[in-house]
Amino acid sequence: MKKALLVIDLVNSFRPGWELPVGGMDDIIEPINRLMASGEYDVIVVVGEWHPHDHCSFARWGRHGEAGTPGAEFHPDLNLRFASMILRKGVDGDVDCTSAFASHVDAKGVRRETGLDGYFSTLGVTDVDCCGVALEVCVTDSGVDSASRGYRTRVLRSLTRSIDSANDAAVIVKLRATGVAVID
Ligand SMILES: [Zn+2]
Repeated sequence: MKKALLVIDLVNSFRPGWELPVGGMDDIIEPINRLMASGEYDVIVVVGEWHPHDHCSFARWGRHGEAGTPGAEFHPDLNLRFASMILRKGVDGDVDCTSAFASHVDAKGVRRETGLDGYFSTLGVTDVDCCGVALEVCVTDSGVDSASRGYRTRVLRSLTRSIDSANDAAVIVKLRATGVAVID
């Protein structure tokens, strides 16, 4: 058994007062730092947005996570020294990539892999825990993909935050229905 932690999208753009705020995001940084430092995980992947200037998702979400701007930098208090790998996603302008594993389906009907599945399988990862933001978008999509690829997957609820927490109950039902465990 080899355990991985996925730390999802703790970039400045999602902080309160920035472009696409996820309420309470600042509150989960220190607990996630402690979890990363705990020694519980064999592999820690820190994932962040890295969108080109004309990214397709900006039509829906507004500008955020733009490559090379302060919004795409990781939260200044996130302790990156624990990262085994830093993965940037959403790098192609024509298709969004809310999952850490693969993009949405593109115009050719293809989901483009980020390489995370290959990285995990090469290292023999069996278990994946997910934390970060936003619960109902990138955390859910990453968790669902993780479970569907055969990893024993959990979402660490107290170490996530949502864009709209009114959806949390439905989101948790969806996660559990796809084989993802949701724990506190
Ligand atoms: Zn994005």
